Amino acid sequence: MERMYSGGLVYDRFPAFSRMSWLFHGCFTRKGGHSEGLYKGLNAGVSSGDDTQVVAANRKAILIESGGEELVTLSQVHGNAVHVHTGPGVVPIEADAVVTDRPGAMLTILTADCQAVVLVDPTKRVVANAHAGWRGSVAGVLAATVSVMEERFGCRPADLLAGIGPSLGPCCAEFTHYKHELPKAFHTHRVGFNHFDFWAISRDQLCHAGLKASHIAAAQLCTRCDAEHYFSYRRNHTTGRLATVIGITSLAPQ
Ligand SMILES: [Zn+2]
Repeated sequence: MERMYSGGLVYDRFPAFSRMSWLFHGCFTRKGGHSEGLYKGLNAGVSSGDDTQVVAANRKAILIESGGEELVTLSQVHGNAVHVHTGPGVVPIEADAVVTDRPGAMLTILTADCQAVVLVDPTKRVVANAHAGWRGSVAGVLAATVSVMEERFGCRPADLLAGIGPSLGPCCAEFTHYKHELPKAFHTHRVGFNHFDFWAISRDQLCHAGLKASHIAAAQLCTRCDAEHYFSYRRNHTTGRLATVIGITSLAPQ
């Protein structure tokens, strides 16, 4: 990952993505921003009890850094529905992934331990952002996202690049009830007694959806282990939400 410092904000980028001048992406840390207390820093989530006006100011800072026209957020429900964003000003809808080819639309996934998985088709200039917690992984949200990119935008999975953002690592992803909660296919990524490597699970799922293994990057940064940079639901329960953003910049040359 490349760590960026700009206007008081700190975010990580996937090197393979940052070569595209028409693309903005960033896995924002909690550094910078205006929130206080449990949400200290750049909290981008409105549903965990923080002051909504402060969150709006945090989101504005993210939008300015992105160079886009709007942050497109979802009402995330740990499912596998994929929203195709075609125009501005849409009320957040219930979905866990969003796809667009629209310049200026900055697709935003909010997390505190779950994965945000960004996808880009460098040839067709289509972007996606998916929210994959363990429930979303079980529901197949990544495969559903790749399918929508194929069917609605004509993308070829072998062309896609993917980046798995900072999230709960195998060090901290303990599942006491994994025999009931996680399918057999995940058990190959069991680490030790009852921990799981969800970074590897997502890699598997993306490869199964047709992506090349060499096109998939993972930040390999655990949110629970690093309280300075990340919000973590497992660590703090009441906490903020990290923003991961991807979009085609407004002034992108064709
Ligand atoms: Zn950890």
